[in-house]
Amino acid sequence: MSREVISLDSITFHYPGSEQQVLKNVSFSVREGEWVAIVGHNGSGKSTLAKLMNGLYFPKAGSIHIAGKKLEKDTVWETRKHIGMVFQNPDNQFVGTTVQDDVAFGLENHGVPHEDMVRRVHSALRQVKMDDFLNQEPHHLSGGQKQRVAMASVLALQPDIIILDEATSMLDPTGRQEVISLVRALKQEQEMTVLSITHDLEEAAKADRLIVMNQGEVYRTGTPEEIFELGDELVSLGLDLPFPIKMGNALKAQGVPVQGQHLTEEELV
Ligand code: ADP
Repeated sequence: MSREVISLDSITFHYPGSEQQVLKNVSFSVREGEWVAIVGHNGSGKSTLAKLMNGLYFPKAGSIHIAGKKLEKDTVWETRKHIGMVFQNPDNQFVGTTVQDDVAFGLENHGVPHEDMVRRVHSALRQVKMDDFLNQEPHHLSGGQKQRVAMASVLALQPDIIILDEATSMLDPTGRQEVISLVRALKQEQEMTVLSITHDLEEAAKADRLIVMNQGEVYRTGTPEEIFELGDELVSLGLDLPFPIKMGNALKAQGVPVQGQHLTEEELV
């Protein structure tokens, strides 16, 4: 069994100045090379979890370990080196005037020598299949291409873990498909650990394991198949079942035999 690279143990949290307990006794772990998706309705605490794992806030109770190290105020810079964060709006993530400047920016900040930097920029853009766009202005790219450049900026820093916080939610279906395929390739070909935070169960269906959040608590964890078997229970938690699962459930309800609830590639993207 591979080692745990993210582990949350009994996390409780409320924002400064607010009485609302946003996270209640949340525990889960992510193993090296695993793709875990955190799903849940709006306001269930998903983004707050990302902020805690990135050390923007600290839990009121419980502990977080990243790559074996406890995340605390004085270890936050060290633990952040292991994590690459990709956010919802790709436009807010650009700092460079060209694609290559943008990817180079983080490396410059880390004092990476020029030759090494050029090599890493090219390699990261190859990883996301954007190496033909080196001199383009990021703002002129499609949504999916922008998000892939944002991912290249993160990959150039060579993290062990990528956290995607609603990274596909502003994209059109083509852009979503581009990003999801890229995440799958990173996991399968480079054994990257991925934690994706999403309200989209079709995206989550690609993960190895799902964590369902509800009102600040872990409601259930399991493989996509196990979670989709919850059917209408998920709908009552404010989640929208993927179309093929809805169809399968409707047919089953009418007594039509349905083979498994697995989603094929074609159905998902
Ligand atoms: P999700 O990502 O699942 O939509 P969030 O983690 O953003 O959920 O929010 C969880 C809860 O925390 C919500 O009730 C939200 O209103 C509250 N919340 C989020 N950010 C803040 C903040 N900066 N200050 C106070 N409350 C917040």
